[in-house]
Amino acid sequence: MRRMVDILIEIADAHAHLYRVTLRLPRPAPMQHFSLPVWIPGSYMVREFSRHLQNLRARQGRAECAVEQLDKCSWQVRCAGRGALTLVYEVYAFDTSVRTAFLDAQRGFFNGTSLCLRAAGREAEPHRMRLGRLPARWQVATAMPPTGRRHEYLCADYDELVDHPVELGHFWRGEFAVRGVAHEFVVAGAWPGFDGQRLLADTRRICEAQIAFWHGRAKPPLSRYVFLLNAVEDGYGGLEHRASTALICARRQLPRLGVAEPGDGYVTLLGLISHEYFHTWNVKRLRPRDFERVDYGRENYTRLLWFFEGFTSYYDDLLLLRAGLIDAPRYLRLLAKTISGVLATPGRRLQSVAESSFDAWVKYYRSDENTPNATISYYAKGSLVALALDLSLRAGGRGSLDEVMRRLWVRSGGGPIDEGDIADELSKVGGRGYDAEFTAWVHGRGDLPLRPLLAQAGIAWADEAGDLASELGLRVSEGALSGVQVKSVLRGSAAEQAGVSAGDELLAVDGWRLRRLDDARSWLKAGKPFELTLVRDQRLRSLRVQPPKTSAGSVTLKPAESVTPAARALRQAWLGA
Ligand code: ZN
Repeated sequence: MRRMVDILIEIADAHAHLYRVTLRLPRPAPMQHFSLPVWIPGSYMVREFSRHLQNLRARQGRAECAVEQLDKCSWQVRCAGRGALTLVYEVYAFDTSVRTAFLDAQRGFFNGTSLCLRAAGREAEPHRMRLGRLPARWQVATAMPPTGRRHEYLCADYDELVDHPVELGHFWRGEFAVRGVAHEFVVAGAWPGFDGQRLLADTRRICEAQIAFWHGRAKPPLSRYVFLLNAVEDGYGGLEHRASTALICARRQLPRLGVAEPGDGYVTLLGLISHEYFHTWNVKRLRPRDFERVDYGRENYTRLLWFFEGFTSYYDDLLLLRAGLIDAPRYLRLLAKTISGVLATPGRRLQSVAESSFDAWVKYYRSDENTPNATISYYAKGSLVALALDLSLRAGGRGSLDEVMRRLWVRSGGGPIDEGDIADELSKVGGRGYDAEFTAWVHGRGDLPLRPLLAQAGIAWADEAGDLASELGLRVSEGALSGVQVKSVLRGSAAEQAGVSAGDELLAVDGWRLRRLDDARSWLKAGKPFELTLVRDQRLRSLRVQPPKTSAGSVTLKPAESVTPAARALRQAWLGA
């Protein structure tokens, strides 16, 4: 029999949220090392999954082996001879996010990065994963290749083992095929009245549009794909994998039977589905050369997340438009929201998107009240870099960003690339060098020339007044019960000059109690100072606020009414209708 690592995953105690893992390693080293990843690829933050690993024991046959912990995530086991080594340990799993593991009496979910130790020197061997006894009527969903035996799976190596999350429990399940690729959609936790067929039909259109995007009429390099969606009271996010994605959304975002017109929440969910599916090509296969070999024990730096996350963000909504799931006005509203968000982020003056990519581990993923002042999102600005390049290429009349993406795919064989590859394919499609754009847009901190580029594409840009919070440079959360809480004070803003701080509770404007800041618009006079009453650390304070003469507010985008034939043609080619 071939050498392989064998892993059995059992429910030790659902109420205690504990999995039991039994790892069997034939022919161990005399001093065999094991480690648990500190991060999960796709989510760029050190999370130290080992903090939930407990009670690790080791034996060979009946003999106990000495286990010594070496650091926060590594152990060594002293073995006697080459007899098979068995490790047994428990993992506490009570995180509903898509990044780790969860277990209770209703549901189980796990990523291998949380549950499966890596046996040093044996990472390249096949890994067999078996599931122990499950509660009655629980189902299993995963893209992990099954062996044919019940609840048994076989992966080529450790990397594959940890790239197939597993969903356990009762869930809704639907299937469809696109170009010979079997797709499965699993939804856990939906309300009664959830319209599964609608979700399935819309997802299918996304998959068709994306496979056509990358491969035209050819067959994609996939045999199977699984969407694992967990619906909860409140939550949002996704994580991409080679043949699946784990998603989380709020129940109210799901489509409902008898409701024909999708709400904004559902469109956001479709955008998430589109985003994670696009990653099947852009980051899981086409990927940064820095990620050619993943180091699970520490940060893995790349300056290219503006491309892999940003360009994926550009195409997620654009492909909803191309799939006919949203119309052009809705697409332009989504785009305008992204532009407004970037322009309302002072941190764009301190970080380029390449720097933001590199620093994701300690900045983007560890956001706090200063984040908008010190960082720029490589998702949001990265998507606008894609937009600017796409519109530049289209205006040059020689092609579009679509061709650049496909050429990168062919050039790398669906593998590692670096910034030089991207620049090279851009210049081939555009018929000129793009060094100046890379310097300014990717490595620079200035604003992108979106207004003229959009005008060339027949899109009119209008600046509109924002709400009072954005005029004063505040990010707040507000509600009838919570009142107005300051989350961030933006750099250089009127609120900062007046002395407002993150954490302040805003009580009143000119002596009127407020639970929504914008109510004060009813009596404030434009440009005139006002008195702001707030609470900070139990003490009432009063500040005089001088509103700015002009404020950026928000951007709206609309098809321009009178356009040149060239702009009309460009708009038609870019947005369809
Ligand atoms: Zn992403």
